[in-house]
Amino acid sequence: MSDFGLILENHYAGLPDDFYTKMPAEKVGERPRLIHANPKAAALLDLDPAVFGDPRFVDVVSGHAPLENFEALAMVYSGHQFGVWAGQLGDGRALMIGQARNRDGELWDIQLKGAGKTPYSRFGDGRAVMRSTIREYLCSEAMAGLRIPTSRALAIVATGETVMREAPEPGAVLTRLARSHVRFGHFEHFFHRGEKDKVRVLADHVIAEYFPNMIGDHAAWYGEVVRRTAVMVAQWQAVGFAHGVMNTDNMSILGLTLDYGPYGFLDAYDPQFICNHTDTQGRYSFINQPVIAHWNLRALALALSDLIPTETLIEKLATFEGHFGGTYHGLMRAKLGLTREVEGDNKLIGGLLGLMNKTRADYTLSFRNLTGEDAGWLKLFGEANVDAESWLSRYRVRTESEDLSGLDRINPKYVLRNWVAETAIRAVEDHNDIATLDRIFRLMQAPFETHDGDEAFAAPPPPNMCDLEVSCSS
Ligand code: AMP
Ligand code: MG
Repeated sequence: MSDFGLILENHYAGLPDDFYTKMPAEKVGERPRLIHANPKAAALLDLDPAVFGDPRFVDVVSGHAPLENFEALAMVYSGHQFGVWAGQLGDGRALMIGQARNRDGELWDIQLKGAGKTPYSRFGDGRAVMRSTIREYLCSEAMAGLRIPTSRALAIVATGETVMREAPEPGAVLTRLARSHVRFGHFEHFFHRGEKDKVRVLADHVIAEYFPNMIGDHAAWYGEVVRRTAVMVAQWQAVGFAHGVMNTDNMSILGLTLDYGPYGFLDAYDPQFICNHTDTQGRYSFINQPVIAHWNLRALALALSDLIPTETLIEKLATFEGHFGGTYHGLMRAKLGLTREVEGDNKLIGGLLGLMNKTRADYTLSFRNLTGEDAGWLKLFGEANVDAESWLSRYRVRTESEDLSGLDRINPKYVLRNWVAETAIRAVEDHNDIATLDRIFRLMQAPFETHDGDEAFAAPPPPNMCDLEVSCSS
């Protein structure tokens, strides 16, 4: 038993010591201040939200005090960044401060982000800024609310420090949770150093804890990673989420959405959408995500090539298309309420996407508003758009005998639009207005519900917030 009743296990430290560096956090800032904490994430650790008021809790989630009975550690990994081998990376500003076993037997990593430098910081300062911390905090919970596999966020602390980016910014520490933070890049690290035995040790470690029904079967496990990754990306595509930096070091071995940086949700539908201002080539554009996921899985396959025969890896990798396509089409059908398969359905789905593309209609509202008045839906496509009218009448005929009453539980009203995230950031940074952050946070945790008084946050960006740029700088 540790602080706050947590049941901690030094699980990752069971690996040989060249998998990590054990070290305490740096104690960033003089007087850390809790900005927000998340009861739903606390529940994953069986943590009573009453602890949020305990000064010891703030000490722990700011890195100013360790959790009892756990030696904090930074993990080493490598990766391909923008398609190029980048060599060693690692937890440059992340630190695992605990691994807690909950009552359901699930092991959860507790990780601080921004609590100081580690041996893997390279040229970085080990810090995180409030802006990117709020973005990750809100988006983790938005994705969880949308039922998309993701890391979670437990708390935000303001460090009181100023951090230098393009301009000076307030510093923060995020506490995030994930069943595991192991990335494709962990496996690539040992493979590309020629330490093949360590690839095996890590694979067996991951399988034993997170894939217990696949112990001894590396091929089945790799196949499962392919499947989970394909399903996750299909969910991204269906909801209109662009990750922005799908480097292999940001790809979770559990198929979780991980490392929220310059991500974006589609406002106007644009398949070529590039959310990351730094991605000048558009490698990580919205439409490219499935291809990139496949590319990353191939990089992982290479790293596993001493464990699994090449033909088997090729065979498993080839299942990606089926898993992705099947899931994506299922989700798009569900978004329109098409339960029975009827000829012409694909044309109907394609027709709507084409229409949205042409008119730059809002992606989220084009689905959500199907349960509203026809006139309101048609407005999304401009004044008197005959193509939209014709699509809608075809859709109404097609769905006459479908039950559309559950559609609002499939098509979210709220996604974390950039302008909404920016509103939360400005509220906290400029006015210490935590209430606005909290309002937006609650919308994101329940994105299918209507929230009276907060309708505005479901809308496309107002004109003065249309061209917000996000970059890798965080
Ligand atoms: P990212 O693009 O955020 O996934 O980060 C890529 C690598 O850079 C990871 O190894 C991070 O730990 C590291 N990194 C990013 N920002 C910082 C920072 N401010 N200080 C130290 N390391 C960083
Ligand atoms: Mg990363």
